[in-house]
Amino acid sequence: MENMKQALIEAGKNMLGRGLTVETWGNISLRDPQTGYIYLTPSGMNYSLLTEEDVVVFDAAGHHMEGGRRPTIEKDMHLGILANRPDVNAVIHTHPVYSQVFAVLGMPIPAIIDESAQVFGGDVPVAKYGLPGSRELADHVIQALGRENNACLMANHGAVCLGATMEMAFKCCAVLEMTAQIYQMCLQIGTPNLIEAEQIAVMKSLAQNYFNHK
Ligand SMILES: [Zn+2]
Repeated sequence: MENMKQALIEAGKNMLGRGLTVETWGNISLRDPQTGYIYLTPSGMNYSLLTEEDVVVFDAAGHHMEGGRRPTIEKDMHLGILANRPDVNAVIHTHPVYSQVFAVLGMPIPAIIDESAQVFGGDVPVAKYGLPGSRELADHVIQALGRENNACLMANHGAVCLGATMEMAFKCCAVLEMTAQIYQMCLQIGTPNLIEAEQIAVMKSLAQNYFNHK
């Protein structure tokens, strides 16, 4: 389906335009819920130059279906996440500055503001380090995301954000980076007040049952 390819290309430009990565780093996948096909960004290409021919397509079993380019080096991570999460259709891997500060420190980011309580429903965990493109890294990220988390940090590397749609995955990216920036600033001045777990649970439920309801 050509509109899936266009949606992926738009997402690449969006990721770069929003400052969620630099140059050709980061990568994105989008699943067509009807066919199960997974559309991946190619390896090492400028996002502003992508065309539909550059998009690499795999089926749910990981067989190459379309596209002459090499897929992103993090292909196994994307396919693994999507296989583990039937509730997710869009995966965005970014290298945003403030989130990376905590990824380098190995510090989970708590839900210190209402937006992050609603979107993440708790701490954003840190996946253990693995070399870029390695099976080890893919496994660490899949484990950190589990069945529930919409985002995780990748130690000394970046972040992964998930969504039922590309729009929701971008919302996740925006809230993660905003929370990381506020948390970093708070830690420089004093000790942040945390939102109580019970209140976080109420906001998460409200977001799932009210705000995202379509
Ligand atoms: Zn990366």
